[in-house]
Amino acid sequence: MKNLFVEQTINKIDETVELYGWVDSKRDHKKIVFIDLRDRTGTVQVVGGEEFKALSEEDVIWLKGLVKKRPEKLVNPKIKTGAVEIEVKEMRVLNKTNPIPLPVNTDGYEIDEEVRLRYRYLDIRRPRMYKNLALRSKFIDLIRQYLFSKEFLEIETPILSETTPEGARDFIVPSRLQPGKFYALPQSPQQYKQLLMVGGVERYFQIARCFRDEDPRADRAYGEFTQLDLEMSFVEREDVMNLIEGMIIDIYEKLKAPIKQKPFPVFTYNEAIKKYGADKFDLRSGEDKKNGTQAFAWVIDFPFFEKTVDGGWTFTHNPFSAPLPEFMDDLLNKKNISSILTSQYDLVCNGYEVGGGSIRNHTPKGLKSVFEIMGLTPDEIDLKFGHMIEALGYGAPPHGGIAPGIDRLLTCITGEKNLREVIPMPMTSGGRTAIMKAPSAVKEEKLKELGIKIR
Ligand code: ASP
Repeated sequence: MKNLFVEQTINKIDETVELYGWVDSKRDHKKIVFIDLRDRTGTVQVVGGEEFKALSEEDVIWLKGLVKKRPEKLVNPKIKTGAVEIEVKEMRVLNKTNPIPLPVNTDGYEIDEEVRLRYRYLDIRRPRMYKNLALRSKFIDLIRQYLFSKEFLEIETPILSETTPEGARDFIVPSRLQPGKFYALPQSPQQYKQLLMVGGVERYFQIARCFRDEDPRADRAYGEFTQLDLEMSFVEREDVMNLIEGMIIDIYEKLKAPIKQKPFPVFTYNEAIKKYGADKFDLRSGEDKKNGTQAFAWVIDFPFFEKTVDGGWTFTHNPFSAPLPEFMDDLLNKKNISSILTSQYDLVCNGYEVGGGSIRNHTPKGLKSVFEIMGLTPDEIDLKFGHMIEALGYGAPPHGGIAPGIDRLLTCITGEKNLREVIPMPMTSGGRTAIMKAPSAVKEEKLKELGIKIR
């Protein structure tokens, strides 16, 4: 097993060490040949001779060598191991590489993205991408630490499920056992997390994958994304907002990412529209942008409903939300619909909506009323949401939650322009998977088994 990472060699001066990694570069000075050996922590210079002649960049090697302090004037301040070099004693090639199809020792922005995604497994060898992956891992670790300290349970919810409305198209999966019937991939765990509250869990979270078949956009990740999905019982709007704000402040302090304003400023929807012309806005100055400051804000008091093209009503954010308490009577009586405000809160960062949530309707009549206002017939309500209305009838506690988007938060904190830079294996902007060729055709027998005919 590998026991030493490249960056740790600076603590091993005058010791013989064993190293594993890739040949990052080679400089052949005839008698002396230098290589830079790379692993996920960085590179170190190794001095050798004849044994290095046949090496190519990206060969995988093992070597044994003596760590030597470099003379003062040969120290390379640009790399972490610049004060040392390794004098090779033994070397073995573990795997000779074929010529690689894209450079991995640049930042990669100059390379066509389709090529980078086709070879994502090489693309993530570049230090910038490794850094993003490592930050993602740390970020999720810090989320877990914080929430466990607040008595949350981490619980998984189904992926093969029934449609839950979040305003996008569903991905659907055909059933073999019941031909002609389909599962839907969850647009969010919304209904399951509420059912966990009915189940008395009280504090739930999940690093949840969500699936939405939205039209591809250049700066978006198509198809799936990851959110911190969270739900709590016996809370009011400010409680959920305070919890998430406290979590973000804690995590960003640990990551040494400055936050512009604490506590986060709160705007009503009307104030935001008046001041910024939108419900998401960038509060950073030019200076803030340069030093990586993150500018968070909350937006609250959104209208619950908006008119549809055919003159009916639909929800603006989330049909499972409760209205603000003072609008409950109007919701139940289906009066003054356009002025009903929802308990929804959106979190904004650097001009993006990075998450949203609400206090939910925890009584059957409240939820039913939302669907009635949206013009669903009793049969439709029963078919699509009967299980939720029934569950709320069995002593559902008051509850609410939120779901910050992890991909978007990481994009903001890294200063990357594109969500795909912080997702390990994203789809292309055209909706093809990285490396593997999905979506792809399936064999006729498979379709037959599923009772499906392609039109
Ligand atoms: N389900 C919502 C979403 O995915 C978040 C929430 O209200 O908790 O956007």
